[in-house]
Amino acid sequence: MRELVVLGTASQVPTRTRNHNGYFLGWDGQGLLFDPGEGTQRQMIHAGVAAGDITRICLTHVHGDHCFGLPGVLSRMALDGVEHPVHLHYPATGDQVVRALIAVSAPGVDLRLHPHAGSGPVAEGLEIRPLKHRIETYGYLLTEPDGRTFLPDRLKAAGIQGRDVGRLQRQGTMGAVSVADVSIPRPGQRFGFIMDTAPCPGAEELADGTDLLVTESTFSDDDGGLAQQYLHLTAGQAGELAASGKSRTLVLTHFSSRYGDDATFLAGQARARAPGTTVIAAKDLDRIPVPRRRQPVGESARPATAIGLKHDGSS
Ligand SMILES: [Zn+2]
Repeated sequence: MRELVVLGTASQVPTRTRNHNGYFLGWDGQGLLFDPGEGTQRQMIHAGVAAGDITRICLTHVHGDHCFGLPGVLSRMALDGVEHPVHLHYPATGDQVVRALIAVSAPGVDLRLHPHAGSGPVAEGLEIRPLKHRIETYGYLLTEPDGRTFLPDRLKAAGIQGRDVGRLQRQGTMGAVSVADVSIPRPGQRFGFIMDTAPCPGAEELADGTDLLVTESTFSDDDGGLAQQYLHLTAGQAGELAASGKSRTLVLTHFSSRYGDDATFLAGQARARAPGTTVIAAKDLDRIPVPRRRQPVGESARPATAIGLKHDGSS
């Protein structure tokens, strides 16, 4: 099951209906918590996310609305006796802040620190790209390796069935038949997470080819001057990112409190720039499934068995 649970959608100032930032991504056996702002622990209760579901915590930067929820969440994990290791990723330049937040948390969690810099992989299937904000900020990209999907009609024509399918998958060939003869490429799923930033190449790379893209959308297009001044995205710029990356679903969040409870008009601004993308203005406690895998163009056969890397939540 791959699903985004929105825990909070407010930027600097929370509102009556919007908690500070916070996002939980269930990705098979993994549970990734992104940018826990204040109140994340309580939002998790509303959303039905248990502290023990979290295997990895990813901070984009150390402004309060993206990390002040960390001590509460870690303390709750200690209280619940979470035994599995929890990996914490954050910008190396935020080390002092992160260590202070950990220092005031209840001890007992097997927390593994992964400060990062630069650009590239930070764990299996997880990469970072630098963003452009007032302090060092990184976005995240979670990718599933490309795999192949077996086609029942081609398997049947090749006379391969039952256990032989698994054997062919492991061996690559079976007699004169190769995996490529009876299957088609299956692009792995991609999840991009872009927080506080002005438009920049790193954000474009994170958006590229995403099935589900979460971006900040702090300002309306009418407040483009403020976005420029504080290094944030407008809704239209978020839409442009999704369009340039051919993202399938765009989730807007991290809204300025100045726009009140209804962010529908921001989704409209993003949609105007990204007509091919499904655009959602997130509300607290929304659950948004990662869209089903893309099927290669022109392929109508229904897949029988999917092969590819299985995420087991380790490392
Ligand atoms: Zn922020």
